[in-house]
Amino acid sequence: MNNFGDLLTLFERYQTFAITTHVNPDGDAIGSEIALYLFLRKLGKSIRIFNADAVPKKYQFLPYWENVENAQASTDYCPEALVILDASSRERIGKFLSKHLIPIHAIVNIDHHISAKNFGDYNVIQTEVSSTAEIIYKFIKYADMSIDAEQALCLYTGLMFDTGCFRYSNATPETHRIAADLIEIGNFAPDEVYSNVYEHLPLGKIRLLGKTLSTLELTSDGKIAWVVVTQKMLNDTDTTLDDVEGFVNQIQAIDSVEVAVCICELQDGNSKVSLRSEGLVDVAALAAEFNGGGHERASGCRINHQPTSAIKMLVGSAKRRIDEI
Ligand code: 5GP
Ligand code: MN
Repeated sequence: MNNFGDLLTLFERYQTFAITTHVNPDGDAIGSEIALYLFLRKLGKSIRIFNADAVPKKYQFLPYWENVENAQASTDYCPEALVILDASSRERIGKFLSKHLIPIHAIVNIDHHISAKNFGDYNVIQTEVSSTAEIIYKFIKYADMSIDAEQALCLYTGLMFDTGCFRYSNATPETHRIAADLIEIGNFAPDEVYSNVYEHLPLGKIRLLGKTLSTLELTSDGKIAWVVVTQKMLNDTDTTLDDVEGFVNQIQAIDSVEVAVCICELQDGNSKVSLRSEGLVDVAALAAEFNGGGHERASGCRINHQPTSAIKMLVGSAKRRIDEI
């Protein structure tokens, strides 16, 4: 494990950098990427950002989002260091980038997931903080650089997203203090940031939510709940996997539910899984059983089985874990 001092030394030592993050990037992933990009630019470095998936529309209010390039654009670029943000394993950045984006000297991993695998040559992992954005904030302060208004907006978006708008238990007093600082620096309206991310929904997403909730099933004790999203449902509502974000939280909110599961059928027929826990069951450990990861109360994995088989495995594991408590 490395500290901020090591990180700063590394950033000072090299001149060319690439930044990337996990597939299906969220507010924390993109906000952290752009804030770090701006930090390195101020140090006079050359930096490019490459992501496996495009910046979702709801994050296109962030400054410099257009500087995020697609994975294929990285083939002619060989940076001295590659910084991987918010991803607990190398594979999480997607097949193409993990194969082709190879730095000359060092891979740096900055992350806050409990499942972090320390896969980098340098690893700055802080599992007690709300988000990667919170780590980047603290790092910029450590480096004694000022945070500008553009960075503040990006970092606030990361904090807001990963704390579920400051609702989850990872929103500590420190997180709130940082958020307040960022609002002051950025001089933006927090309600507008919220509105950009959560209130510009395509109609199809609401139709998909309706269809998804109609698949709801629960164990007889009501402690485990699950929903399934099929490719047909996505096609019928003209939506993508990105639109499924947040659905799992809806069923986690049911009074009796300890573990909520949302399973999406991928194009190849396999399953993408989101898990949420009320706190009793460690769903990071549950996801790890299937080579996934995340946090104790929010995690995910991919399972190479159809949703119907994947559900059985997941519910079986969740039941065992509840019984053990
Ligand atoms: P979500 O359900 O919102 O997609 O993800 C919840 C948490 O689990 C996030 O912190 C995310 O990084 C992590 N996560 C989701 N899917 C995967 C996965 O396939 N592998 C790993 N290692 N983590 C995942
Ligand atoms: Mn994050």
